[in-house]
Amino acid sequence: MDSIEESGVAIGVDIGGTNLRAAVVDQSGKILAFTRTRSPIADPMQGHDLLVQAIRTVATQANVQLSQLQGVGLGIPGWLDRLSGRLAFAPKMAHWQQIFDLDRLQQELALPIYVESDPHVATLGELWVGAGRGSRHLIMITLGTGLGCGIVVDGKLYVGRHGMAGEFGHIIVNDDGAVLCDCGLTGCLETQAAGPAIAQQGRAAVESGTVTLIGDLVQGRADCITAATVFCAAERGDPVAQSIVNRAGELIGFGLATLVSLCEPEKIIVGGGMADVGDLILKPMQQAMARRCYLIARGYIAVEFVRAQLGDHAGVIGAARLAFSHES
Ligand SMILES: [Zn+2]
Repeated sequence: MDSIEESGVAIGVDIGGTNLRAAVVDQSGKILAFTRTRSPIADPMQGHDLLVQAIRTVATQANVQLSQLQGVGLGIPGWLDRLSGRLAFAPKMAHWQQIFDLDRLQQELALPIYVESDPHVATLGELWVGAGRGSRHLIMITLGTGLGCGIVVDGKLYVGRHGMAGEFGHIIVNDDGAVLCDCGLTGCLETQAAGPAIAQQGRAAVESGTVTLIGDLVQGRADCITAATVFCAAERGDPVAQSIVNRAGELIGFGLATLVSLCEPEKIIVGGGMADVGDLILKPMQQAMARRCYLIARGYIAVEFVRAQLGDHAGVIGAARLAFSHES
């Protein structure tokens, strides 16, 4: 126990759509214990208890008393209303708006609790002990059901006035205006290049009778097509799927070109499930970014383009970092 008290530990929690992850993390960013449970969907009101349970379980696993912790950091799927302690906006996980109650959590655990959005904590994790280690200016994007972003300026996460900075998925790169975004507007990058958009474009191709491996992979049942189906067909060389993936990568690259023009980072880190597809999506992304940002195109700057390193652990490690960075 003495060593824990000397070095300090915190718990980081990452509340995701499928899984709720919690870890005890030491001050060097090492995970001492980790637990993962399924996020409550069928009975959302269990969510608060599950969250408390996950924190207590992982503390027990690491043989740490809650009173020994520096605090708890939470990565949440939306924005915290800092006055009410409730989630103000959680388009991908609306049920967490009913569940999440910071004041109740703080009272039950009797610990300081720090909260940021999930892309922000993932960025903190990568900055601390992952692909961003040693960088002063970087941008991390997370590609999946949504397109998240964290911006690091002069070594610090930039969260904006209310913690809402980095809404990468909702910048406009191509105002098609056809699809209504979760945010209530149209033309957002997310509606054209995130996972659900890629799945939708695959379904549209099959439904229109286009000959493509995408349809073969689901025996013609268009409603079974997911982004993973389109990626699988693209990996096997299907030109229709490759064109969809290529265009998504290109649009994300246009978004990155804007971010680079605004922030002039030294590095872009790409994380999230869609990054696992690799060069099929990363190459068009990087090329479009370099082509559409004159600072890069004219050779004034070079921006390193790297994959995230911490995978599913980025969120819990970054959330724990929140607690450490608030100490003293
Ligand atoms: Zn939007």
